[in-house]
Amino acid sequence: MTVALYPGTFDPPTLGHLDIVERGTRLFDRVVIAVGARIDKKTLLTPEQRVDLLRETVAGLGHCEVLPFEGLIVNFAREQGADVLLRGIRNSTDYEYENQMALTNRRLAPGLETVFLPASPDHTFLSSTLIKEVLAAGGEIEEFVPKVVAKALREAWQR
Ligand code: ADP
Repeated sequence: MTVALYPGTFDPPTLGHLDIVERGTRLFDRVVIAVGARIDKKTLLTPEQRVDLLRETVAGLGHCEVLPFEGLIVNFAREQGADVLLRGIRNSTDYEYENQMALTNRRLAPGLETVFLPASPDHTFLSSTLIKEVLAAGGEIEEFVPKVVAKALREAWQR
């Protein structure tokens, strides 16, 4: 049984994240989406909102669960019995950063492998940061995120 941990901030979860999750569930026996608290970074959605939205969005997918985490990802991976850290790669900038992180995590936790999935062509341009910028400027975000997420984002922005 191979367990993959997919860590991220997911502020907000996008269709690109979901694509990685879906493909992950076809490759691994269990996928745990680990939602980071990010005390270092101000988020638009609270950790609880991000966890709840992801749970709603992946409700129909088997072998998949969503959990909040704080601290070092390799420690959380160990607690969850994960064999693999799953990450998505959109472009060479992602690759530079992700590879550096993968090598660091390998030193911290030998045996825990990082697996990169290339973003699907329809999703390579999608980023949580840009979606928030479009929202802030009054643009349409509906085609970038699941419906429930778009609704929550509009409410969070109006508050
Ligand atoms: P972090 O703050 O850890 O980078 P994110 O929520 O931004 O968390 O992203 C989590 C993971 O999902 C990262 O591996 C990131 O590269 C990947 N990712 C982000 N957007 C996309 C996308 N549109 N398609 C595929 N993977 C993505």
